[in-house]
Formats: sequence, structure tokens, C-alpha cells
Amino acid sequence: MEGGCTCGAVRYRLESAPMFVNCCHCRWCQRETGSAFVINAIIEASRVTLLKGAVEVIDTPSLSGKGQRISRCPACHVALWSNYSGAGPKIHFVRAGTLDDPDAFPPNAFVFTDSKQPWVVLPPHIPAFPDYYDMKTLWPAESLARRAVAKGE
Ligand SMILES: [Zn+2]
Ligand SMILES: [Zn+2]
Repeated sequence: MEGGCTCGAVRYRLESAPMFVNCCHCRWCQRETGSAFVINAIIEASRVTLLKGAVEVIDTPSLSGKGQRISRCPACHVALWSNYSGAGPKIHFVRAGTLDDPDAFPPNAFVFTDSKQPWVVLPPHIPAFPDYYDMKTLWPAESLARRAVAKGE
């Protein structure tokens, strides 16, 4: 599964399916995308291969107050993935809309639905949370194991 920015200067490949996919409705993601939510495919940094170009890493404030680092194309500045302080640099939150097939990884959970835009109607078969969730109870065991390996725990 490949993806890239709008101008084509940066291309990447996901070497496997993500561990989990969050659809975040927080106000911060709304502002950063200029849209109603962001879709983050959470995957090990080691499974994201840069095929072309290099990313520019921009330190950006985050809801937690601890900041996030957004990797962007240095030419067109489209955001490709984020790294958050909690998950650390070894876990990428890849913006699923930058995949060549953005439909490939639908959300496994909706988060921060307290600030969901009122016209967005969530499908009932996907779990939704007013803020965040307990990863250990929601993520599949296989994904938790992958995450632990990636973080060196
Ligand atoms: Zn670009
Ligand atoms: Zn968010």
C-alpha cells in the first residue's frame, strides 16, 4: 500500500496493514485538517518506507499539551504522518487520506466524539468514545504485541 503528498515529491509505502485506525473528531484535528475529522492509520515507523523524497518535521502544539511532530512534504507541505509524545517516534500516525487508496483502512474507533461536528453521523458498528479509549481493552492482542515490540517494551 503506497501513498504520498499532493505534489508527488514524497512517496511512501506501508509494509503491512496498520495496527489500528483512529478517526479523531477533536477540535485540534479539525483545525489541522480544515475538516471534520482526521483518519490516522497507526503503524510502526519501521514499516513505513520512504520511496521518494524526504519529509520535513514540524513541531506542532497538540491537545495533550505535549506537542506532536508532523512530517510534511517540504514542497507542498501536505501532512503525511504525525508522531505524538505518548506513542513516541517509533509509532507513526499516518494520515489515511494520503494513501493512494484512502478507502483501504476504515476506522476501528472514533475518538473525541464529544466535539464531533453535529452533521457527522457515525456508523453504529464501530466503537465511539467521547474522549479516548483504553488501548489494552480495545486493540487486538496482535496489535498490542506489535506496538510493544516497536516501542521496545
Ligand atoms: Zn508534496
Ligand atoms: Zn484529534
